Amino acid sequence: MSQHCDDLMTFLNESSSPFHAVSALAARLQKAGFTQIKQLDDVVLSPGSGYFVTANDSSIIAFRAGHGQPTDGLRIIGAHTDSPNLSVKPNPVKKRSGVVQLAVDVYGGALLNPWFDRDLSLAGRVSFVDQSGQLASRLIDFRRPIAIIPSLAIHLDRDANKNRSINPQTDILPILAGLSEDDATDFDLSALLSDQISSEYEDCSDVRVLDFELSLYDCQDASLVGLDNSFLASARLDNLLSCHAGLQALLAASDAHWSLLVCNDHEEVGSASSVGAQGPMLTDVLEFIAGSAAASRKLRDQSTLLSVDNAHAVHPNFSDRHDESHGPILNRGPVVKINRNQRYATSGEGSALMRLLAERTGVPLQHFVVRTDLGCGSTIGPITAAETGIRTIDLGLPTLAMHSIRELAGCADVEYLDRLLTAFYNRVA
Ligand code: ZN
Repeated sequence: MSQHCDDLMTFLNESSSPFHAVSALAARLQKAGFTQIKQLDDVVLSPGSGYFVTANDSSIIAFRAGHGQPTDGLRIIGAHTDSPNLSVKPNPVKKRSGVVQLAVDVYGGALLNPWFDRDLSLAGRVSFVDQSGQLASRLIDFRRPIAIIPSLAIHLDRDANKNRSINPQTDILPILAGLSEDDATDFDLSALLSDQISSEYEDCSDVRVLDFELSLYDCQDASLVGLDNSFLASARLDNLLSCHAGLQALLAASDAHWSLLVCNDHEEVGSASSVGAQGPMLTDVLEFIAGSAAASRKLRDQSTLLSVDNAHAVHPNFSDRHDESHGPILNRGPVVKINRNQRYATSGEGSALMRLLAERTGVPLQHFVVRTDLGCGSTIGPITAAETGIRTIDLGLPTLAMHSIRELAGCADVEYLDRLLTAFYNRVA
């Protein structure tokens, strides 16, 4: 297995929530010598150096200052840090039928069936008052199976294999603990979270928890699958795979030019948030890099954004769900995504650039167009293009089981994507 694929699997396992994904990206950037910017105005950029800025702990922009003028244009790679999941409601505790359960919301377009009968854990950000009376937040991750959503047995639903539908309000509450018969177990979620914070942070004992953003995730680590280990199975491949590939490319990029990576939260719920692709984060950083609003306009005119997000591979059992001439296959290369109705931002010129880049890099390229009689998904590409005016291309790795709790991609494609993205930054085409 290549070092990139190895580190990708470690990254996927570490990144149990968007907060943890940004933390894992920041750690890798810091290790590579990138400097974190807290306030954009406080820093003088030096050519050849790397910088990064985070927002809400869940979105991140990293860039390498080139030796040329930034107004000559940036090569930008975009991806998103969030994935569909089950998110814990603010007052979640239910005690019934001898167990403690947590009420959950569905975040994004989750495929719900695969969440049953999995060993689940809990991760996210908790906000509290510390011992000196200050408001603070920390990331927590239980990193062990503490919850499960059991299926209803087939004996109690004889039609389960024909038409079982899922009511998200009533059917998917996970079980967290047993209750004693006299209901003496006084389960206290705040105390549980406070204990978890103390166990993860030495300087945070006995805090008073005020609120949290926590989501469930599958404890099963990423793994190589198939007789020849040619497939990669993991949670959150959409779109942490692309965040990781963008990071690897940025770290490998030449400092002759300016290169930037933006990984936004909230793509799965439409990107309209202060830290989503529709928010001001990228525009603010570009204006800071350019030095003025007028120079930023020129910079954006000269820049190109590659929006990297997974693409639907042809499922062998359901191959009729694809247009027969535009069906990507696992391990046959990255996919340029095209939709003439602008659900994807790729123009003919952008697609041509990718063809040339792939040709010069020796990477096979595939193309996806949704069936004309099916609706088309979308991603950060068209939103970022509309917000910034930057020429944008939508591309991604072929993936099966998208938005399942466990998705499937091809290992060879991971290598292809790394090569293609590095070549994009280095302006091989
Ligand atoms: Zn995605």
